[in-house]
Amino acid sequence: MDRRDFLKRSGAAAAVAGTGLGVSGLAHGKSTIKWKMVTTWPKNFPGLGTGANNLAKLITEMSGGRLKVKVYGAKELVPAFEVFDAVSRGTAEMGHASAYYWKGKVPEAQFFSTMPFGMTANEMNGWIYYGGGQELWDEVYEPFGVLGRPAGNTGVQMGGWFNKEINSLEDLKGLKMRIPGLGGEVLKRLGGTPVNLPGGELFTALTSGTIDATEWVGPYNDLAFGLYKAAKYYYYPGFHEPGTILEALINRKAFEKLPKDLQSIVLNACRVVNMDMLAEYYARNPGALDQLVDKHKVQLRAYPDDVLRQLRKVSAEVAEELAGQNQAAKKIYESYQGFLDSARKFSRISDLAYLKARDE
Ligand code: CA
Repeated sequence: MDRRDFLKRSGAAAAVAGTGLGVSGLAHGKSTIKWKMVTTWPKNFPGLGTGANNLAKLITEMSGGRLKVKVYGAKELVPAFEVFDAVSRGTAEMGHASAYYWKGKVPEAQFFSTMPFGMTANEMNGWIYYGGGQELWDEVYEPFGVLGRPAGNTGVQMGGWFNKEINSLEDLKGLKMRIPGLGGEVLKRLGGTPVNLPGGELFTALTSGTIDATEWVGPYNDLAFGLYKAAKYYYYPGFHEPGTILEALINRKAFEKLPKDLQSIVLNACRVVNMDMLAEYYARNPGALDQLVDKHKVQLRAYPDDVLRQLRKVSAEVAEELAGQNQAAKKIYESYQGFLDSARKFSRISDLAYLKARDE
């Protein structure tokens, strides 16, 4: 339906509503808009896939069925890593993914996903919503006709699954590991081989020896994929993903065709899911970790302090290098880094000081 038709019909329905007759005409009449949402996750995958489902359900419910969104898992409509292109060309009106998957096409998009030793979930939300991050994100996706919005966050992830202990940087040399985004670049600098695979392929790749190690998300998600059956050591912390944003991708033309109230519903549903997913991770990760350790006898290991220190140094170099790739990347890096420097001063005397006081 084109915009003119839509306005005509909704106008007619509003006129009827104004007379006090048949308000339900708009909700149940011919004005239903149908959208597709493609995702990089296996259908219904805990946290990520169900987050996409929640987003679709919220939009459908909040709009009283005027905008119905149907979710497709990875490969159902398009392969996992073609989600961005599918939304850009309008094959689907929405997508659910994470921005670092598009680093080959838009390297600076990685800032809107997560950065090694970068911001936590709360800090990312602060930067995106109130620190100028969203405006920069809009500029990056503008040429592709796509809007990106935070629609989920994993919190601090786990370091990953290994079949050997990591006692020094030497142990990372020659390691073929699934690790996306800039974390992968860090591994490459240290002599490893980063591989990017969709979540649904990790278990097979690890058991078949296609990769030596993998990270995924955290206990809740890693338990669901059964990664403990393929690797023995589970490392923390996930220095490479300290607060990864899952993004809702929205085709700009499709969005602009919506009346204002439906636009607001789409954007606010993203905000709700952004908060909701993080809450779910905080609720489910602790119990899943207990299961991994107590039931499946997973060996939990902390990266040695010295290894973390060196990873931090290389991470800073990799981020600076990304900033040097183009003008947009430089501008985003400066904004991101400025916000982080300022946030760090406060988090030291708030979150960090409090958690230390509470738990040590
Ligand atoms: Ca991850």
